[in-house]
Parts: sequence; C-alpha cells; structure tokens
Amino acid sequence: MITKKINIIEFGFEKLVDWLLARNIESYRAEQVFKWIYLRQADSFNHMTDLNKEMRTLLSQHYSIRRLEKIRVEKSRDGSSKYLFRLKDGQYIESVLIPERDHYTLCVSSQVGCAQGCRFCLTGRDGFIRNLTKSEIVSQVRDISRDIVDSVRFTNIVLMGMGEPLANYKNVLSAIQIITDNKIGLNFSNRRITLSTVGLIPNLKYLGRDTRVNLAISLNATDNRTRDMLMPVNRRYPIEKLLDACSRYPLQSSRRITFEYVLLKDINDKPEDAKRLARLLRPLKAKINLIPFNDYEGSEFVRPEESIIHQFQEMLLRKNYTVIIRDSRGQDISAACGQLRAKTNGERRKSEKQKRLYDTTEKFSGYQFLSHY
Ligand code: SAH
Ligand code: SF4
Repeated sequence: MITKKINIIEFGFEKLVDWLLARNIESYRAEQVFKWIYLRQADSFNHMTDLNKEMRTLLSQHYSIRRLEKIRVEKSRDGSSKYLFRLKDGQYIESVLIPERDHYTLCVSSQVGCAQGCRFCLTGRDGFIRNLTKSEIVSQVRDISRDIVDSVRFTNIVLMGMGEPLANYKNVLSAIQIITDNKIGLNFSNRRITLSTVGLIPNLKYLGRDTRVNLAISLNATDNRTRDMLMPVNRRYPIEKLLDACSRYPLQSSRRITFEYVLLKDINDKPEDAKRLARLLRPLKAKINLIPFNDYEGSEFVRPEESIIHQFQEMLLRKNYTVIIRDSRGQDISAACGQLRAKTNGERRKSEKQKRLYDTTEKFSGYQFLSHY
C-alpha cells in the first residue's frame, strides 16, 4: 500500500518520464500531465481527460498535485496584494502581487528568512531558517496565477521577496527553468523575470551562464566602509570586485543591469554619494532604482525627505542614467521585503489564540481577510 504520495511539482518532468518509461508508458504522457498542471491549473489527475482512466488512477496512487496553504491575502490601497503562505513545516513566506498599468508583477520569495544580515532589512533581522524548495518557489507563481481573473496580463516576476536567491542557487535555477518553459512549464518570458541579489559573485557567474533573466544588484552604498556597515556580504565581495563581476556578466543586446539603491537618511543620501554612484556605474550598462527606505517599527534607519530623494535622482538623471524611484508598494498594509511575515511572527508570539483564528478562517475561505482591509 502507498502511504505517502510524491509532490509531482517537486518530482518534475524528467523524473516522471523515467518513471513512466520504467513502466513501459510513452514519455509524451509526462508532457500531457505537466501541461495540465501548469497551463490548465489542474488540481487532480482525474481532470486530465486525455489520459485513460487506468493511467489517471495509477498517477493519483503515487503522486499529488499540491498547492501552498494560503493563510491570508492583504489588499493595499494602491492595489497590491500580499499573500501569506504557510509551508508544510509551519514556516511562513510571502509573495506580493503588484498591478501595474498594463500588467501584473509578482514578487516571489526564495528563502525563509535570510542569512545575509543587511542592517536595514527586516527579513535579515530574523536570520536564516531554510531554503525554499523548487516546488515552493514555482507554486507561488502557479497558485497566484490561478487567482488572477485576467491572468494573461500576469507577465512579470521579480525575485525580490524574502531571501537571497543566489544563496539558494540550485532550487532557484530549477524554478526559473520551469517558470520559463513553454512546453511543460508556466511559459513566462526570461525578459520579464528579474532576479535581485546582493552579489554573491561565484553564483552570479553561474546565473549568467545558466539563464537569460534580468539582473538587479542591491548596491546600496558607494564606498566599502558604508557598504560593509550596511551589508556584511561586502566584506567578502567588496564593491570593486562586485562591479568587475557585473562588467563580465553576459547581457543580451539592449539589456542593462539594474542597480538598486536603498536611500537611508544621512547614511548614503548625500550629493557626493550620487556623484560617486554615477562614476562607479559609468563603465557598465546600468540603470538605477532608488528605493527610499521603508520604515518599520524599531528600525535604526530613517527615510530621507522627499526633496533629498528627488535631488539625488536629479543628479543621476543629469549624468544620463535612467533612474526610477521605486517606492515599496503596499505601504499601508506592511511594506517591504519580509515585513508581513515578521508581523505574523510577532502576532504569534503575542497570541497563539489569534493564530488559531487564522487557521479556522482559512478553512472557510482563503479570501476571508480581504474583507477586513
Ligand atoms: N536578497 C535580495 C532580494 C530581496 S531584497 C537582495 O537583497 O537584493 C529586495 C530589495 O529590497 C533589495 O534591493 C533590498 O536592498 C531592498 N530592501 C530591503 N529592506 C528594505 C527596506 N526596509 N526599505 C527599502 N528597501 C529595502
Ligand atoms: Fe537578505 Fe536581501 Fe534582506 Fe539583505 S536585503 S537581508 S540579502 S533579503
């Protein structure tokens, strides 16, 4: 008797082909199965009408098609939605769906917590718990895609949620391969996926070799002393080594590397910083995203005043850079990277009873919480 079914999203296409061949079943059946799972969002093998009954039974005896457990969705005034998922081992992750003018962008997590310990980041403050599996990363995209009514407009993905994607390279790469596969995957374009990293140089090289996704580098400072203080990773991979690796990064024609720069009052927001930033990026094909620091309770940093933010942008524009001020979306519901989960952990510490309430609500409807915001 079979007791534990295998999660087919984690198992994957190649292994299913082998498994079928070992039973003298044609390999194209695996293609049919994965088309149902990703393109048609099937939740049961019984729905796969182009497979015969015997095969559907065989597959459902051995495999399951799982979704993440959706705990709640918080909707922001600006239209973005934060999804909170609970994983099999009780850990929480978040994904943020952002409606843009003509499309949706989904911000996806790659780890539970993060080991990089950037001082301004709430995810970093709680430390590292574990890597997400391939299926946990892919399922954020698959599950949320099912929720979107006009899902054809869901075209963009940013790996900018919780965690450092290049510290979970193997699983992130496998997930990207599925997300971009147009036969047995989710059929997203590489051009519309962006991976954001603090710049773990060895894996940065592999990323350039193995994928065609866009690259974003969290630079956040223009001198090593400040970056050392803000981002411990800088002691291993200082600015000059990181930028050198960026200059060797294989870029498709007309593409540029995005440099993210979190603006922190009196730390990295002076005119000299803007000048140094312009000089540092000069040899590269670069564009710049300025992210005004997103405040949270107990943070030691402050967001600069609007006039300073615009002055900083202006100086870079004058040096002919494309510079976007990217304010974190959904500020009214629990702002940037990692803050939703941190809030939930706080709530859990405060009240186990409240947590049980989430559990009960979820049984009725995953959307229950929407009505409260
Ligand atoms: N670990 C990756 C991706 C996740 S963080 C990375 O660091 O690049 C995504 C972006 O959010 C990074 O550019 C990071 O610098 C920024 N960020 C983190 N905490 C922030 C905060 N409180 N306010 C504004 N930006 C923040
Ligand atoms: Fe990790 Fe990115 Fe936060 Fe740094 S900014 S702690 S790398 S998630």
